[in-house]
Amino acid sequence: MRRRTAGMSPDEAREAVRDVYKELAGRPIQRDCRLRTECCHFKLTGKVPHLTRGEALVAAHAFRATGRKTLTARPDGACPLLDAATSRCLIYDSRPFGCRTHFCAAAGGPYSRRDVVDLIRKLEEIDSQLGGDGARMLPAAVADALR
Ligand code: SF4
Repeated sequence: MRRRTAGMSPDEAREAVRDVYKELAGRPIQRDCRLRTECCHFKLTGKVPHLTRGEALVAAHAFRATGRKTLTARPDGACPLLDAATSRCLIYDSRPFGCRTHFCAAAGGPYSRRDVVDLIRKLEEIDSQLGGDGARMLPAAVADALR
């Protein structure tokens, strides 16, 4: 069972999640994301990123900063954060951990778990402090965070 701790405000959680993303970016792991966005087409890949609650708050905050308020499901099954007009991620700098570490074979394939397990644990701890119950599929997690 998860350890429940003293709690964390949404602002603190967003900052802590961003620190995790910064730490990940500073790791000497070969990665070559070229913004191909193939990994954002869930129906094609059969894979959907899962987000902890803190990551969902970061994604929702970035989404709101674009002036948008609600997610629109895409009929092609792509990520609702993929802009249909530009085919670009609307929140690229704030994209979830899974988008940075998984799914794209061309970018190098999934990170080895042992290279990032400490960061996953930090995200899980933030999730726990926010009262979350673990990672959830991106569309539902972000939609809830926007409410
Ligand atoms: S959040 Fe961005 S990078 Fe991640 S799947 Fe959605 S559009 Fe792609």
